[in-house]
Amino acid sequence: MTVAARLSPQPWMTAPESLAVFDALASGGADARFVGGCVRDAWLGRPVKDIDIATHAPPERVMELLEGAGIRVIPTGIAHGTVTALCGGKPYEITTLRRDVETFGRHARVEFTDDWIEDAARRDLTMNALSCTPDGSMFDPFGGLADLAAGRVRFVGEARRRIEEDVLRLLRFFRFHAHYGRGEPDAEAMAACRELAPRLPTLSGERVRGELFRLLTAPCAAAVWRLMMGQGIMVHLLPEAMDTDRLERLIAVERDLVVTPDPTRRLAAVLDSDRPGAVRAAEALRLSNHERDRLLAMVEPPVALALAPLVPAGDRKALRQALYRLGDAELFGDLLLVAAAIHDGPLDLTALRRALAVADELPGLKLPIAGRDLLEIGIPRGPAVGGTLRRVEAWWIAEDFRPDRDACLEMARGLLDREIEDQASGRSA
Ligand code: ATP
Ligand code: MG
Repeated sequence: MTVAARLSPQPWMTAPESLAVFDALASGGADARFVGGCVRDAWLGRPVKDIDIATHAPPERVMELLEGAGIRVIPTGIAHGTVTALCGGKPYEITTLRRDVETFGRHARVEFTDDWIEDAARRDLTMNALSCTPDGSMFDPFGGLADLAAGRVRFVGEARRRIEEDVLRLLRFFRFHAHYGRGEPDAEAMAACRELAPRLPTLSGERVRGELFRLLTAPCAAAVWRLMMGQGIMVHLLPEAMDTDRLERLIAVERDLVVTPDPTRRLAAVLDSDRPGAVRAAEALRLSNHERDRLLAMVEPPVALALAPLVPAGDRKALRQALYRLGDAELFGDLLLVAAAIHDGPLDLTALRRALAVADELPGLKLPIAGRDLLEIGIPRGPAVGGTLRRVEAWWIAEDFRPDRDACLEMARGLLDREIEDQASGRSA
């Protein structure tokens, strides 16, 4: 394979840890390159997330060479040829070059090879089949660089066959289109996606979640979601997630306020359904308990709708009350953003920004008295303590959390006095 281009040395390529890994492999004569996403993103000048390396050496030999150089290695997927090197706290996934013998979804039967082209040919997209040596020599067997430059997301080989081999690639096509595509999506791929979409339900929820969550964080997620709906794809995945207008508004608000995109929040926005629909979506995507709880809290209409009118008005007192009742600053921010997405009409971004900042007040919203204070002022042990505390709290909330400890104690004493008076008048009556 000839060198297609030169990548200027990137800090993660020339980092001592990376060089140590490559040196260890080279010491045993093992040819190695950076592959996949890190090469693609570095070429575009985007931040690189995880570093994948491919090599000729079989996994046992990779382990031996790295351990010999004092590098810790974990046999993360040794049966499929993958080990993870931990060098200076950084993980490097190192996979032996493979060729497919038989393909059936995720469990393709593979054989190790020493042919770089065979390994590149089993990758899904041309832009994901790039590889690069530590000195920056780029290899591009399927025209990935031209496709990247044109914003063209294209399969390696025939789209239909590649999706038949692993239907997850159908979702990966749209995920990558959302992040790297420009203009009309590849017509051959779109036709294959339409045709094979009925096979999507055979995928595991975890794999679908992985792709849809990454898709949802893209700046143009709403447009791509709409595209997928139009192609009859979403009905096979999440029939309850069709509110792309709301998703679009959420994305615009997040962009304007420079809020980090969050896939669970974006999923909540696109779900045009109530609690049962959200429960179904959470199950279909095998969300974690934490994600599921956040999603359900965000689609509960009463809370979001209660906050919606506050967004333009920026009523700080009502916002503080909502924050206190939720007791969760993160969820408060999520709900405000979802409420802003639900809100029809022009948004006052300054008011929304101020409303979001109310979340910082949560640590200060603590009722300044507790049950033992009430015992000290003579309220008898028993249900009266809780009852009085709740009444003081309701008053303290209505007073916008301003009353201090002394004022709260005075209020409690007043309630106690009134109670005694009531009892006395009850006796005398
Ligand atoms: P990201 O930066 O989002 O992680 P990535 O390109 O690293 O993007 P991964 O899902 O981590 O994507 O996969 C790493 C590489 O493995 C891809 O670049 C691609 O070459 C290959 N790959 C992953 N999944 C598939 C698949 N289902 N079919 C074919 N090749 C795949
Ligand atoms: Mg990756």
